[in-house]
Amino acid sequence: MSIEGIASDSSEAVLGDYDVIIIGGGPAGMAAGIYARRAGLDAVVLEKGVPGGQVLTSPNIENYPGFPDIAGMKLMEQMAEHARRYIDIKEGEEVVRVRSSEKFEVFTNAGKYTAKAIILTTGSTHRKLDVPGEELFIGKGVSYCATCDGFFFKGKEVIVVGGGNTALTDALYLHSIGAKVSMVHRRESFRADKHLQETVRGHRIPVAWNTVVEEVKGEENVNSVALRNLKTGITSVRVISGVFIAVGEIPSSQIAAELGLEMDAGGFVSVDKAFRTNVPFVYAAGDVSGGIRQIVAAVHGGAAAALACFEDLMKPYYSRLP
Ligand code: NAP
Repeated sequence: MSIEGIASDSSEAVLGDYDVIIIGGGPAGMAAGIYARRAGLDAVVLEKGVPGGQVLTSPNIENYPGFPDIAGMKLMEQMAEHARRYIDIKEGEEVVRVRSSEKFEVFTNAGKYTAKAIILTTGSTHRKLDVPGEELFIGKGVSYCATCDGFFFKGKEVIVVGGGNTALTDALYLHSIGAKVSMVHRRESFRADKHLQETVRGHRIPVAWNTVVEEVKGEENVNSVALRNLKTGITSVRVISGVFIAVGEIPSSQIAAELGLEMDAGGFVSVDKAFRTNVPFVYAAGDVSGGIRQIVAAVHGGAAAALACFEDLMKPYYSRLP
């Protein structure tokens, strides 16, 4: 039996039975995998694309200890290579459904897996501006990934929208590859790290403060944006070729909802200090569990979740101690 072609019958052959299945192969998932396997758990990582998660799109990482300046893609390649010494990372396997019965049943595009426990490290996705033209011009001038698409905008006018670490890192990257970049931010100050703010100022990257994008315009490709100054109310049209949108993340918590996990108002999964959720034998770490969304925090969460899982599966008396 299948739902939209996806295997979903509980009587169907099981592709693998594990102590723990880790869903998502970003930094949290890979750290969870290393720690779970080293603790002796039979574990697997299911990743819908390639390992690395959002960090893959980060041009430069300067705050992950031991790596003073490394491209996100490079760091993730190294992390995946390290993780693979211990754990099988099944790439291109998207989890479409999870069912809790005697064991957890995890359905992917390839079939069914079962496990005694689940560590959810599904990360987050890009928030959109939700303005006219945004959707229409994705891939035709609208981008959520400066490292992926920046190359096409060498020598061209582009804007970066947002005021967080991602927006400033992206603006610096685009500037470094020769795009004529300026920033558009809805407030009059950035929330990004001071170091990044100083670097952006140092490179004299112009900023339109208190300004929002009202519309992305173009014909085949983007050729301009309509901007509105929130203080003056004045609307203007700026001729540009690219719009890089970096306005935050939305947790990927669909599987969490299916499992009945408690979440906060923003959809981030609620966890305790050991990264246990409200459902026994289900753990969540990395961006999907909120907190400071940093690689170092994701790695910590993944490792802690794997160790909590080990305690709960192998030494359940631990968790009953006062
Ligand atoms: P973020 O910190 O949530 O910042 C999002 C930015 O977008 C904010 O400036 C916000 O404005 C703005 N924004 C949100 N919705 C908007 C809308 N509808 N229209 C216009 N502007 C909007 O997101 P992020 O920069 O992607 O970072 C996510 C997490 O990853 C953070 O914890 C960040 O520190 C981390 N990160 C770290 C690094 C690093 O350390 N190297 C690099 C990248 C990301 P307001 O300020 O007005 O709310």
